[in-house]
Amino acid sequence: MDTPNTLTIKDFHKRLLNKEFSAREAADACFKEIAARDGDIGAYLSIAEDSAREAADAVDNAVAKGDPLGALAGVPLGIKDAILVKGLPATAASKVLEHYVASYDATAIKKLKDERAVFLGKANMDEFAMGSSNENSAFKPVRNPHDLTRVPGGSSGGSAAAVAADMAVATLGSDTFGSIRIPAAFCGVVGLKPTYGAVSRAGLIAMTSSLDQIGPITKTVEDSAILFKAIAGADPQDATSANAPRAGVPQERAMKDFTIGLPEEYFVGGLAPLVERETEAAIARLTKLGARFKKVSLPHTKYAVPAYYLSMPAEVSSNLARFDGIRYGGDRPEDARNLMEVYLKTRAKFGAEAKRRIILGTFVLSSGYYDAYYEKAQRVRTLVKQDFDNAFEDVDVMLTPVSPTPAFTLGEKSADPLAMYLSDVFTGPANLAGVCAIALPTKPGTARAEGELPVGFQLIGKKWHEDDLFAIGSRYENDMA
Ligand code: GLN
Repeated sequence: MDTPNTLTIKDFHKRLLNKEFSAREAADACFKEIAARDGDIGAYLSIAEDSAREAADAVDNAVAKGDPLGALAGVPLGIKDAILVKGLPATAASKVLEHYVASYDATAIKKLKDERAVFLGKANMDEFAMGSSNENSAFKPVRNPHDLTRVPGGSSGGSAAAVAADMAVATLGSDTFGSIRIPAAFCGVVGLKPTYGAVSRAGLIAMTSSLDQIGPITKTVEDSAILFKAIAGADPQDATSANAPRAGVPQERAMKDFTIGLPEEYFVGGLAPLVERETEAAIARLTKLGARFKKVSLPHTKYAVPAYYLSMPAEVSSNLARFDGIRYGGDRPEDARNLMEVYLKTRAKFGAEAKRRIILGTFVLSSGYYDAYYEKAQRVRTLVKQDFDNAFEDVDVMLTPVSPTPAFTLGEKSADPLAMYLSDVFTGPANLAGVCAIALPTKPGTARAEGELPVGFQLIGKKWHEDDLFAIGSRYENDMA
């Protein structure tokens, strides 16, 4: 039999209720896989064996008593280290938070605890979610389980690698400009960036508050829907969160009811041959399944990356100002002689990328430059959003590549921030527009040739229309199964 760590959420639930294994055995199967493989991969920054076993035992008692249990009961999950789980470390892969232990649960975690999910540990990431390759972790890089010389993508690289290597049944990541979808694509798993506001950000260590979203990384689209529905919903702790206005509306639509847009600006050349081939194959398969395709235009696409790299640092400089050495674990430098030295010695612990962004952000907000940079970038954001509104007049969803290349090798782009930033060209605009988007593998692992790297494609949906992504994505993956 497949060990529980290799199962989808859906199969896990069935087999747990069938008593084919216990929740405790399932958690242990994950820890065994972590012990065997994570030394090479580096997906976890910390593991939580005691609390996981305790939670699993409680589920097993409930199973024995015949209590009604939801789809996530006993399911072993990994959680990105930027998301707070009470009593577990939350470093955001930064030396600044090296000894911080979360004092409360993020709202998404509270909801999962209500569902009796089991938390295995905290997943590695780029420091403060800044990066596209997971090479910016202050502790260790993550390696791609499909090829250890390659990156898993970032910033939720540990979350994606853990799912791909069966070191968790599913995980949570966060996505500000692609950080769930890029690692999902590089690791051959499914990653959802929900509509901005669909999932509460309370308890997510903030990078860019106006863009950050927590979302699921899973083995299948069906699992993505299960996990998303469990964490979604309005939360008084996050004023930008809301309930989906369409919640409860049945969304049974046939494939022929969907018109899928192909934004011409996303197919202008420069795609790696494998990505181009795989994206075309995905379009052909969806056509065969009955979907109709139509060219659309998102004319401001080329300004999305520059607009992000002006407005994001502005928010970073303000969000990271709270890390002053006095709060969050009291890692106060002992040899500091005065308050200024406390600040200076603490803030010296930020990695190079965080420092670059704090400095840039402080600059773009400074008097005399605010109008020229920050305000202008905000105007461009509005134009990008209007592009999406216009395109969605004609089509239900859009299909694009996730990244111009498959997983690249460690070190290949880390010396050139601009090259790294450009790997987000296809994912970031959806964040600026606040819409939902999912990355799913063009081929499941079993269909890939020996040594063939995974490639993902992206479906972008209208705000609050995650159901459209799930409907199309799950039909695609069932057809490939
Ligand atoms: N790669 C982008 C950055 O470095 C996006 C990261 C993210 O989505 N958190 O900021």
